[in-house]
Amino acid sequence: MTDDCLFCRIVAGEIPATVVHETDDTLAFRDIGPKAPVHVLVIPKAHHNDVAALAAADPALAGKVLAACGAVAGQEGLTGDGYRVIFNTGRFGGQEVFHVHGHVVGGRPLGPMLS
Ligand code: ADP
Repeated sequence: MTDDCLFCRIVAGEIPATVVHETDDTLAFRDIGPKAPVHVLVIPKAHHNDVAALAAADPALAGKVLAACGAVAGQEGLTGDGYRVIFNTGRFGGQEVFHVHGHVVGGRPLGPMLS
């Protein structure tokens, strides 16, 4: 838990979120500003700044986050047509919240990846 981290505060229940999937180690909740019909954020409950830091510090937990992304996609009905999992990383990557999170996005054709 990091006191000034928005997503740690969601894990702690201090800030409300629409949780759609939870395990002992991961939490998934709807993005507050969805970019597609389905837009869910999947996080480890433990604080790691970004996906590289997570993978370096705890590869097993990184695997659990990826598994949770897949579970969310299945639960949200995305597996037939496909979807995207995005880990924005660092400033140039557009990361704004520095608690690693996978965006699970789908429900419409997403177009080219880069813009
Ligand atoms: P970006 O805003 O460029 O996507 P990030 O990859 O860091 O940057 O994503 C942060 C995401 O967190 C954004 O999609 C934003 O809408 C979402 N978000 C911010 N605050 C909340 C919140 N309280 N509950 C749910 N999602 C949130």
